[in-house]
Amino acid sequence: MAITAPDRTGTVTLTIDGREITAAEGSTIFQAAQAAGIDIPVLCHDERYDPVGVCRMCVVDVGAPAFAAACVRACENGMDVKTATPELERSRAVLTEMLLSDQPAREHDPKQAKTADNELLALAGRFGVTQDAPDALPRASGRGTDSSSPVIAVDHDACILCDRCVRACDDIQGNDVIGRSGKGYATRIAFDLNDPMGNSSCVSCGECVAACPTGALTNKPIRDIPIRPRSELDAVDTVCPYCGVGCALTYYVDRERGAISFAEGREQPGSHARLCVKGRYGWDYAASPQRLTRPLIRRAESYPKGALSADVRGELAGDTPPKGKRGRKPGGLVDYAEVMPHFREATWDEALDLVARRLTEIHAAGGPAAIAGFGSAKCSNEEAYLFQKLIRTGFGTNNVDHCTRLCHASSVAALFEGIGSGAVSTTYGDVINADVAILTGSNATANHPVASSFFKQAQRRGTTIIYVDPRADKMAEHADIYCQLKPGTDVAFYNGVMHEIIRLDLVDHDYIAGRTTNYEALARTVRDYPPQRAEQITGVPADVIRRVARVWGEAGAGVIFWGMGISQHTTGTDNARCLIALCAITGNIGRPGSGLHPLRGQNNVQGASDMGLIPMFYPDYAKADDPAVKARFEQAWGTGDLDPKRGLTVTEIIGSALKGGVRGMYMLGENPFLSDPNINKVRKALAALEFLVVQDIFLTETAEFADVILPASSYLEKDGTYTNTDRRVQLGHKVLDPPGEARLDWQVVQDIANRIGLSWDYASPREVFTEMVSVIPSYKNLSYDNLGKTGKLYPNPDPEHSDGTVVMFGERFNTSDGLAHLVPAEWLPAKELPSEEYPFVLNTGRMLEHWHTGSMTRRSYALDAIAPKAQVYMHPDDAAGLGLADGDLARVTSRRGTIELDVKVSHREARGNCFIPFHFREAAANLLTIDEIDPFGKIPEFKFCAVRIEPARIEDMPSEAGHA
Ligand code: SF4
Ligand code: SF4
Repeated sequence: MAITAPDRTGTVTLTIDGREITAAEGSTIFQAAQAAGIDIPVLCHDERYDPVGVCRMCVVDVGAPAFAAACVRACENGMDVKTATPELERSRAVLTEMLLSDQPAREHDPKQAKTADNELLALAGRFGVTQDAPDALPRASGRGTDSSSPVIAVDHDACILCDRCVRACDDIQGNDVIGRSGKGYATRIAFDLNDPMGNSSCVSCGECVAACPTGALTNKPIRDIPIRPRSELDAVDTVCPYCGVGCALTYYVDRERGAISFAEGREQPGSHARLCVKGRYGWDYAASPQRLTRPLIRRAESYPKGALSADVRGELAGDTPPKGKRGRKPGGLVDYAEVMPHFREATWDEALDLVARRLTEIHAAGGPAAIAGFGSAKCSNEEAYLFQKLIRTGFGTNNVDHCTRLCHASSVAALFEGIGSGAVSTTYGDVINADVAILTGSNATANHPVASSFFKQAQRRGTTIIYVDPRADKMAEHADIYCQLKPGTDVAFYNGVMHEIIRLDLVDHDYIAGRTTNYEALARTVRDYPPQRAEQITGVPADVIRRVARVWGEAGAGVIFWGMGISQHTTGTDNARCLIALCAITGNIGRPGSGLHPLRGQNNVQGASDMGLIPMFYPDYAKADDPAVKARFEQAWGTGDLDPKRGLTVTEIIGSALKGGVRGMYMLGENPFLSDPNINKVRKALAALEFLVVQDIFLTETAEFADVILPASSYLEKDGTYTNTDRRVQLGHKVLDPPGEARLDWQVVQDIANRIGLSWDYASPREVFTEMVSVIPSYKNLSYDNLGKTGKLYPNPDPEHSDGTVVMFGERFNTSDGLAHLVPAEWLPAKELPSEEYPFVLNTGRMLEHWHTGSMTRRSYALDAIAPKAQVYMHPDDAAGLGLADGDLARVTSRRGTIELDVKVSHREARGNCFIPFHFREAAANLLTIDEIDPFGKIPEFKFCAVRIEPARIEDMPSEAGHA
């Protein structure tokens, strides 16, 4: 066959099965056939992976002596391809029979239907090949099974060594767990050094299961719900309910059982069908028997107000945790048997009437300042919008906030000051266009796992990754440069980098002149931070600081991603100011592959902030203390009573409640008892409230202080929109019915609004969305009808034809003069430094498997099974110096309290530092944290306080029965 060069348009023209087809130059035959709707069977190939052509199932006839693998063979001009000749079909049938011969017996297992959507068995059906035919090849076995993972079953006999799982794990998720071991027939996939999967470094993302075509890797059923073929299940497209990445997924629902059978990633530009362990396996919390199903009212005899379970009442918050109340205690959730008797069931009418009456009475007696509301970043945009509207129009106060105060409030303060917008300037997917990316203060593999897979992939394709963090998170292993700085020294580090960039004249003079202000003041400040001084403060060698400066300064495009290691400090705003300045002086905002991206924590923290669920801003960040804004919203909402001043933040509301200022609160989906710093103080504040209504799906620690508890709907039970960290607005769809009398949150908020005289009549979230968009210019042009299956980025000038704006600020910033305002920052030490008595620095944060205060994830079978207990992570030398080994019980004490929990010896910690996740009630990290706040963003210093660590006293050791 004559092969000619591609034509000048970058396309090639060939014939496939007699049809003339034009394909992009470089396309494979498989891609060209697929695009033309021609099916070529395949086993080892998936369009998301680099082709390897090992299974030979996709061979086609290109007129050459040997068949060609369509997945690897490129299209060529003039090629004549046949995909389904009798010879090809015979070849495929023989191949299928051979592969099938080694497969294990396929008897139906009702709990784990290995036949569900098995691609090899589907081919066997297509070619009429069975394992039971009289002339079938003899079946072999003996490579074994592995059930050590709580969520994935491995059957090596079913493996055909197609390497799809290897490529899924390594190339897609960047986890590098799977390889091969053995020789000849004994060859099999291996996890790490041929460890059992459950003991390996596998992070249970399930990508390998999604890739496996034969059932060698299968999901284990969760809560005994069988995994049936997709065709027998109801598919509901929605979005993951956990982190700000907002991965698109499909739940496959067994309607007979009213339960989810399994979850699967779905294509969307920000997740490309990937999921992490939480998204893939962590959804069954909604089916927990502990769901609240009826409204509850505190019994008269359970006053005076206070916590109801013994540990929350006092012992947990005391100096010495009692036996059996430590990190080793199994469960670690609110004890329903202890708390429920203090409440009686009520009708919705009775409960809502009581809520409306008590809040109205407190408002009448104490004025607007006596009322406050905490909304939730787990709720939809529509719910966040209605909640802030209720607090503002119903009670005339701006005392409404949510967990953004605890995660990126300082980042938002710095971004508003610097560039006039709190949202990201580019997406995390844009990292692929960056020459260099700084990832700082972010344990991305745990907190934003799917976003981290984009970072890992970018690094493999040539983006230089600079990782800056006190903890050597897994990202450090994927970084080109890792800077393990001392906690709380970020300003000194970035000032040192900027000092060197200016010294080397690597700044972008045109950008500085045309797009920034205050450069001279910044340059003056960083002059005092030569790399040697920065080294003294940060512990990062001066040479490394110089290298970072050169790599960043010489890059054509650089982008910075940051997490709460930057924001959760009393200097959080200064930290973010430095990142903004570093980008701006090198011209790195407003072009592809450049920009600023604070990685948002909760699934809808970006949306909740956009909706105005914050005390200083109305929707779309309109300043609450601007009279023109007040007038605009009074007109839009038909009220004349809006609060003319900023409201109190989360931490300020707690302080005010302690002093009797705020006396009545509406808490929607928040659990400040575990999430806020210094929980002894929070406990007193909650107890001091005259009236507290908690709307939630479970009995949380905060609900123990409630007068009324309203049973809410989980994420899985409602429709609504959610905005991810990229500014992607996506539709979430109802998957299941709410249990019992639990109700949709937006309807409950509306019912309360109507009981206090607001006359709302929203018929659906769609209707709320329409109103929202009318007062949120950034969401202009978005509607339920055009968000589609993958959502849209805002701003989006043309949503019918565009996914939205990836890179913002190409021409001007949102500041009044359109310029980036550079704000120099001097390094300041943390508020509570280590001392002889408290020699360790405590850092708190999240784990991969758990979420916030654990009320959802600790009720997920899989997540709890993988990570069942609280641990303090310590450097091996620190642990050894204290006589502690992995698994020993340690006591950790700060000036505010003491907890006891197991030791996790970890090379990821630097000496002198320790890390405790804050999800665990029985070893509540926030009992130790300090409630000092950043003066601008008002965010607490979760990342730094001084603690003492010691072996727990033997005489206090809980009995064996109390151990997990
Ligand atoms: S579950 Fe994820 S991390 Fe574990 S082996 Fe499979 S792809 Fe790799
Ligand atoms: S990365 Fe975040 S959004 Fe994606 S599956 Fe995991 S928790 Fe869900």
